[in-house]
Amino acid sequence: MTTTVDEPTLGTLERRARQRTGTFGEDALIACDSLVRIYQSEGVEVQALQGLDLLVNAGELVAIVGASGSGKSTLLAVLSGLDVPTAGRVRVGDWDLMAMSSRQRVEYRRSMVGFVWQQTARNLVPYLTAAENVMFPMALAGVGRKERAARAVELLAMLGVAYGADRRPGQLSGGEQQRVAIAVGLANRPQVLFADEPTGELDTATSSDVLEAMRTVNRELGTTVVVVTHDAGVSEHVQRTVAIRDGRTSSEVVRTTRTHEDGTEHTVAEEFAVLDRAGRVQLPQEYRETLELVGRVRLALEDSHVSVWPDRPRPAATSAPAPEATVDAAPDEETR
Ligand code: ADP
Ligand code: MG
Repeated sequence: MTTTVDEPTLGTLERRARQRTGTFGEDALIACDSLVRIYQSEGVEVQALQGLDLLVNAGELVAIVGASGSGKSTLLAVLSGLDVPTAGRVRVGDWDLMAMSSRQRVEYRRSMVGFVWQQTARNLVPYLTAAENVMFPMALAGVGRKERAARAVELLAMLGVAYGADRRPGQLSGGEQQRVAIAVGLANRPQVLFADEPTGELDTATSSDVLEAMRTVNRELGTTVVVVTHDAGVSEHVQRTVAIRDGRTSSEVVRTTRTHEDGTEHTVAEEFAVLDRAGRVQLPQEYRETLELVGRVRLALEDSHVSVWPDRPRPAATSAPAPEATVDAAPDEETR
């Protein structure tokens, strides 16, 4: 027997939830839906992405963090159109990355997205000056000489490296080279800038400059920025940090600015677990160890949250079990 619910009796939240089930991440600029990437090497299968979900809205600056081997570069290779996943769906703007022809792929890479890689040598042509490096992708896209020169000056100035316009990469520091690389990535006005460990070869102070440069780009040009790093300190520079573990998004740190009654502002960083499309959530190791949560657990639906209990015989006398790990299910409105 099926039960039908009249639309008017549904609350706003339920209606919204129903609408959401239409297409996953419809409103997002970047939507990764259950991405899987399996590499075969010498007969051994490596699952670099294991059903990864990620949504990024237009205009966001998002950092992706994770241990080495967690799948960060694989994800960026997919998003930048260099690699095709084994399964799942991935869309950036109107581009369906699973169904692009090789011509469309070239066009996507030239017009929609820009990249900055960890190796400074991969970003810049060594025998061209910084300005020439920035003008190079514009020449490939058929932009006129005058406009190329003007845009190069403008971008290098915004990134604080105008003084190095006539220097070759070898005459610039690592941090300066990466800021020029950001300018190169932005030359053709992409909607999205991807950066894979752009600070990997830099010291802490210089890394901070490069991350601030990404923030400037995001704020001044409105470019959506996705930056991958193994540097956990990145979350201080961005609004949203997504952690990847074993090829899946596992948790997020969201920073919000709150204004107090006395008018003072301060930033609050909150950590969230990510509930995937199948309803799975990863409990932090620390919680599992503290409460010896292994194998089977009991779940209970409370008024405003879900609680997770170890599968242990309950002491006969106590009706209410001792406090356990709870997964807070506060309505998302409050955190946006
Ligand atoms: P990260 O960038 O987070 O360090 P990667 O995306 O580079 O992680 O790698 C994820 C996993 O996939 C690792 O186990 C890695 O060894 C494996 N891997 C990556 N690229 C290849 C490849 N071309 N062939 C086989 N295995 C690969
Ligand atoms: Mg990597």
